[in-house]
Amino acid sequence: MSDTSSTTACPDAATLRALLDGTLPEAQQGTTQAHVDRCPTCETALRQMTAGGESWIGMAAKLKGSGEEDPKLAAALERL
Ligand SMILES: [Zn+2]
Repeated sequence: MSDTSSTTACPDAATLRALLDGTLPEAQQGTTQAHVDRCPTCETALRQMTAGGESWIGMAAKLKGSGEEDPKLAAALERL
């Protein structure tokens, strides 16, 4: 956060997601890709997105839909 003059700010999750999906406008895609190439933080974020896929979204939807609480899962979430 102290060195914004020489590095561009990290794109938000939605932008990274759009980069993965290929829905990012071409101009933005270039700068975002260039940033990700030299930013370990974003590289990690992207890797987690590709590795985890949509599973966490699916899990959240499942939890919402079931209306049941798994005690084991609740305990696991509490530890996070
Ligand atoms: Zn970054």
